[in-house]
Order: sequence, then structure tokens, then C-alpha cells
Amino acid sequence: MVDISAAPPAPTGTTTDALVELRGVDKHFGALHVLQNIDLTVRRGEVVVIIGPSGSGKSTLCRTINRLETIDSGTIVLDGVPLPAEGRALARLRADVGMVFQSFNLFAHKTVLDNVVLGQVKAKGVKPAKAKEIALALLDRVGVRNQADKLPAQLSGGQQQRVAIARALAMQPKVMLFDEPTSALDPEMINEVLDVMVGLAKDGMTMIVVTHEMGFARRAANRVVFMDGGQIVEESDPETFFTAPKSERARDFLSKIL
Ligand code: ADP
Ligand code: MG
Repeated sequence: MVDISAAPPAPTGTTTDALVELRGVDKHFGALHVLQNIDLTVRRGEVVVIIGPSGSGKSTLCRTINRLETIDSGTIVLDGVPLPAEGRALARLRADVGMVFQSFNLFAHKTVLDNVVLGQVKAKGVKPAKAKEIALALLDRVGVRNQADKLPAQLSGGQQQRVAIARALAMQPKVMLFDEPTSALDPEMINEVLDVMVGLAKDGMTMIVVTHEMGFARRAANRVVFMDGGQIVEESDPETFFTAPKSERARDFLSKIL
């Protein structure tokens, strides 16, 4: 038996296991300083929940990580490679970042199956038969394989969001970003989506999740990052954050949502 307690401690202050690393990231929208000197490291296999008031910059932060938004200064490094500004290198890196939005953004006129097949064939060059096999396995994993031949509109919101997760996973991303994935759902459908996300977390997926779902944070998050006014105000483990937040701003926010 291997005695892991004898293993050397993981090095700190190095980037060896950092999968996503933001250093000194700044962004403005005109006069609005929407991201202010953001430093954030997400390690391989880590689940980071980002929480904070509306307008604090959470979505913008997510969107910079796959370059849906440019940044004014600072660096974003993905698995050791600085995010390039454009071109094929950007397209390749972007494929490493799966994104799931509040609105499911499925292709409305394609079947559920095709929604999960198409990106694989077009962006990754996977053969259609293989892509279909992968898609069916992923739809099975998120519990909607029996809906494969339907159009998105024939599914419930919770089912559609699970298809969106399967579609993102089909690109074999290194990290998954979720931006308020359950905010548009009826309450009874929230858990079926969160359960899929908890499963992904348990399987070791690296995840950045913007959500106010404390249950999810408690079950799956390694770390909670609290943002306000374009800044990261505090970071801690979920239990500490929800029971004993350090900052006045976090206490004030939690008193409003709890
Ligand atoms: P959150 O996701 O935390 O609610 P956002 O990142 O969506 O916050 O927005 C942060 C701030 O940036 C808000 O004040 C918002 O109005 C503003 N903002 C977001 N996107 C744009 C844009 N494309 N142009 C101008 N302002 C924007
Ligand atoms: Mg948002």
C-alpha cells in the first residue's frame, strides 16, 4: 500500500497543476471597469463556484476565458498556453473550453442528437458514425438518450439544458464553464441539471460555475469565489463562505439571497 502521507507536499506558488490561470486581468466597457485586476487560478479537477451580485462581472469573467470577450491587460493561460488573440490557435484553444449558458442555445431546427453530433464533425473532424456513438453515450450520461430524435422545443427546460451540457462535453473540453445554468429553469427542474453537474465534478471535470445554488456549492465546490464590483472580494471553501464570510460585502450579499 502506498503511504500518500509520505508524498512530498504539492508545491505552492507554482503553476504545475494550474489549468486556468488569470493574472492581473483588466477589462473596461467604455467607462465601466468591469474586471479589475483579476487573479484566479483553477487547478486541474477543481470545481470553483463564482458567486456575486448581478452586474459584478461574473459573466464577463467567464466570457474572457474562452475569448468571447477580449481583455485590456493581464494574461489568461489555459493548460500552460497563453490565450492567443485570434486565428486558428484561438479556435483550437476555445474548443478546450466548454460553455453552458443560462439560455440553452441549442440549434432549434436540429434534433437533440444532431445538436450533439454536429460540433464534433465540423470542428473536430470526427467521423459521423463515431460522433453519433459518442453523442448517444453522452445523452445517456445526462439522462436524455430517449429524447435523441426530438427537436429541442419538444423537451423541458431541464432536459434542454442537459442536452446543452452533453453538447459541450462532446467537444472533450479541458474545462467546463457554467454561467447560471439553472437560473432560467422552473424550480422542479433545477436539481436534475445540478445532479448532472455534480456527477461531472465527481468524475474529475475541471469546472467554473457561476451560480447562487448553495446546495450545489456545498456538494461539489472546492472553492467559492465572491465577486463584487468587478473585483474578487474573497475566496474560501464553501462551508466557510456560507457560514462565516470574511467581508462585509459578502455578508450583505448572502443576507439577501439566503
Ligand atoms: P454578472 O454576470 O455578474 O451579472 P456581467 O459580467 O454580465 O455581470 O456584467 C458586468 C457589468 O458589465 C454590468 O454592469 C453590465 O451591464 C456590463 N456589461 C456587460 N456586458 C456589456 C457589454 N457588452 N457592453 C457594455 N456593458 C456591458
Ligand atoms: Mg451574468
